[in-house]
Amino acid sequence: MKILLASSEVYPFSKTGGLADMVGALGRALVNAGHEAVIVTPLYRGIREKYPAMRKVDWRFDLPLGLTNVQADLWELNRTGEAKIYFVDHPAYFDRAGIYLENHISYADNAERFIFFSKCVVNLARYLPWRPDVVHVHDWQVALVPALVLQQKIAGWGNPPATCLTIHNLAYQGVFPAEAFALTNLPESIFNTEGAEFFGLLNCLKAGIAFADFITTVSPRYAREITTEEFGCGLDGVLRRRQSVLTGILNGVDYAEWNTTKNPHLVKPFSVGRMAGKKINKLELQKELGLPADESIPLFGTISRLAEQKGVDIQLGALAEMLNTNMQFVLLGSGSQEYERGYRDLARHFPRKVAVHFGYNETLAHRIEAGSDFFLMPSRFEPCGLNQMYSLRYGTIPIVRATGGLDDSVLDWTQNAKFATGIKFSEYNSRSLAKAIRKALVLFSQPKLFQACRRNAMKADFSWDRTVHDYIEVYQQR
Ligand code: ADP
Repeated sequence: MKILLASSEVYPFSKTGGLADMVGALGRALVNAGHEAVIVTPLYRGIREKYPAMRKVDWRFDLPLGLTNVQADLWELNRTGEAKIYFVDHPAYFDRAGIYLENHISYADNAERFIFFSKCVVNLARYLPWRPDVVHVHDWQVALVPALVLQQKIAGWGNPPATCLTIHNLAYQGVFPAEAFALTNLPESIFNTEGAEFFGLLNCLKAGIAFADFITTVSPRYAREITTEEFGCGLDGVLRRRQSVLTGILNGVDYAEWNTTKNPHLVKPFSVGRMAGKKINKLELQKELGLPADESIPLFGTISRLAEQKGVDIQLGALAEMLNTNMQFVLLGSGSQEYERGYRDLARHFPRKVAVHFGYNETLAHRIEAGSDFFLMPSRFEPCGLNQMYSLRYGTIPIVRATGGLDDSVLDWTQNAKFATGIKFSEYNSRSLAKAIRKALVLFSQPKLFQACRRNAMKADFSWDRTVHDYIEVYQQR
């Protein structure tokens, strides 16, 4: 099949979270499975310099955006074994210090930037001589694409591609003042409660849910959760209406990137049969972060956006209690300043037990995954979550709240004593998390059990080769 993937983030070109990892990996997995996949994404600052093989395409976007017309250029990059990638080049929109925000403040023109980008996606889908069978869009930034395709179909586009929307996180919907709707040049008739309108505002994701031919989300449990009031973020009604085309497909892991044997970020390689290297990674991590280097102290790690969703509040509470025991905790995160302060206070309180690192750091992320004994992910909700799956492969036992993709990817003792891969807890409070940490300490004190759990974890397979067929099945329903 011919699939055009559209996303505001694609690893390794741009990334703020799991969305980038997923789109990059899905592109490659589709190619590996014998399909033609092409990705389109904005040309952000610094990308061109990093990839000099990029070539300018003989293509000029000149598209209506409300009452004006906006122009942009197009670049392409071909890499062997990977999906071809197109970059939409509009410096005023995309050559900026951040992707969505700067200094914790969202760009005021995000609606304009991503409505324009969505129009570029549709323009490519329609006029590229390579005619995609499916346009697969990801998250609110490109969620207006299905409505735009539909409108052009009505206006005479014979046989347009099917549209598929993947919701990576329902909490981010792209909600803007009603005036922004004019930028779409879509008919006013779709600005209603059945369509793009949400309590008088423009809601880009809602438009995607209403008009996409198929909707997927990134885990089976999250697909069920988002149709309930508790997890629906106000869109559970429209999701229930479209439930017949909604599927949950667990994200895969890009093991070419996230592996323990051929990984330039790691101090020493290791694998199920050769675990000595993991110990060295642990000791080096402790040293690197200024903690006492001692193999016998259980080391807990977290890598996360510091957002409410990630369970920061209960994690701070549980750690304040549990750090009185013999354990260490390392954090790599960025996000809310208030949460950063919380972790900084914790580190000040327990200077020989806690190390925190704020900012984005790919190498440190791999080293924390490799050097930790346990990985904490107590999310309030989690559409899929990737770090718990990276942890599994790195022999780092995940401690997760049983929600969304966390529940789908980790197996607890109570579910299956023989094949358990991690520790789960259900109630969203510090006490339950502290109890799960206590269980981890007991596990750590029993080397045989701990090794068995580690082995199960490292053998778990979440490769894309399996998952990609589920997407093909969705595409083929057209
Ligand atoms: P989300 O998309 O909600 O942020 P996921 O677990 O799906 O959560 O994906 C997070 C991705 O971002 C992972 O690849 C993780 O390693 C990475 N990540 C998050 N925070 C950082 C950081 N501060 N430095 C480096 N990588 C990070």
